[in-house]
Amino acid sequence: MDHFPVFLRVHGRRIVLSGGGEAALAKLRLLLKTAGHITVFSPDPASQIERWADERRLTLVRRAMAPGDTLCAALFYAADEDEAEDARTAAIARADGALVNIVDNLQDSQFITPAIVDRDPVTVAIGTEGAAPVLARAIKADLESRLPAALGPLARIGKSFRKLADALPFGRARRDFWRDYYFSAGPKAIKEGEPAVRDSLDTLLEAHLHREARPGHVHFVGAGPGDPDLLTMKARRVLDEADVVIYDRLISQPILELARREALMINAGKEGFGPSMAQEDINALIVEHAQTGAQVVRLKSGDATVFGRLDEEIDAVDAHQIGWDIVPGITAASASVAAIGQSLTRRQRNSSVRFLTGHDMKGFADHDWATLARPGEVAAIYMGKKSARFIQGRLLMHGADRHTPVTVIENASRPDQRVLETTLDALPAALSAAQMSGPALTLYGLAPREAAAAHIEDRADPLFHTPVSQTQEAL
Ligand code: SAH
Repeated sequence: MDHFPVFLRVHGRRIVLSGGGEAALAKLRLLLKTAGHITVFSPDPASQIERWADERRLTLVRRAMAPGDTLCAALFYAADEDEAEDARTAAIARADGALVNIVDNLQDSQFITPAIVDRDPVTVAIGTEGAAPVLARAIKADLESRLPAALGPLARIGKSFRKLADALPFGRARRDFWRDYYFSAGPKAIKEGEPAVRDSLDTLLEAHLHREARPGHVHFVGAGPGDPDLLTMKARRVLDEADVVIYDRLISQPILELARREALMINAGKEGFGPSMAQEDINALIVEHAQTGAQVVRLKSGDATVFGRLDEEIDAVDAHQIGWDIVPGITAASASVAAIGQSLTRRQRNSSVRFLTGHDMKGFADHDWATLARPGEVAAIYMGKKSARFIQGRLLMHGADRHTPVTVIENASRPDQRVLETTLDALPAALSAAQMSGPALTLYGLAPREAAAAHIEDRADPLFHTPVSQTQEAL
């Protein structure tokens, strides 16, 4: 972010603009919406600017700008559409201490004016750092059509009611009240006029004051493998309403950004082998927050019910009679087979599939190797990087074919996804050569579908290839 969006208080402050043509008019139309004092310098202003001056909406000075003209100004716009003149006026404004914008000159401007959706007092500002004005306009048009025209009056009336609503306890109770107002009671009442909106606020406040406090609750949410598009709608909704989010190390940044801005974000950072918060401490943390009445989202990677130590957390919550539910997510195995264009099960190949963990609390995990070693078996191996040699040894010992295909998918569904295609025989060596640092899932018994495999041969590095979707586009 090169430009940080802020809302600047311009009430009663000077805003100066130099220019009298089209560019000046475009900026003035926006600036006239503000409560700032606007002064325009132009020896030859457009007639519309003269009219605004006659209506006393701005002060017009019919000459070129001179040093000292921008003293005490909050903002200055150089809008003469002439490079030399803009540079001259901008230098004056800078010396006078105003923030400077030169129209159509991002490089030399100290601030930019966003595209604005105006539902005063609600204002949406859209910026693209000057990269794509077309995109900003498209987003603006989209928001204009989606935000009800009544939003302005509702917000204005709501603002005047804020003090009264402070009778509700801070936090969730107050938020619930305002949510009901803006999304239910308010829009209904506004159809009958503004006095009806005021009445509805009184009635609503009365109802909320006598409402029992909502008890704390824990949502155990599967955040999926990393791509925010793979979150369920339900996961998005609970994230949007959360008071507290307790998340694991594998949760990707774009997903964390979907949580409510005011939510308390706690990193429970459990790592497979590195330092981590003890499970008991995580349990205690969840309970502690839910007991204060918070809506807690316990965010786990993939699906919360797969190798997530979920039961221990549920037991802790249950022990304190706190309500909970599970929001399913897309597990790494699903994202990984999708990445290589395969199915987890297939008629006449395998009618069952195993989800294994490479290591458990006691070390490398033991499994029914004899069954898995049979031809056609498929397994999704979680946390299988460090245990690759152990797994290989056990399977070969039980008679598995050394040419059995094995595919390792690192960072499945994320922009840095990598696919390593190998065989049981070559697995440990291929893995150590690949030096994977991200989470990786091993698919035993599956190779990338042909389209992807063919692509590998064309590449300089035969070990890795891009996700199937990209490969197919390339073919
Ligand atoms: N509950 C999770 C699994 C947690 S165990 C789920 O359902 O996916 C952590 C292991 O999951 C990692 O060691 C790795 O094997 C796997 N994993 C998680 N996210 C992954 C991703 N984006 N790509 C590949 N493997 C992943």
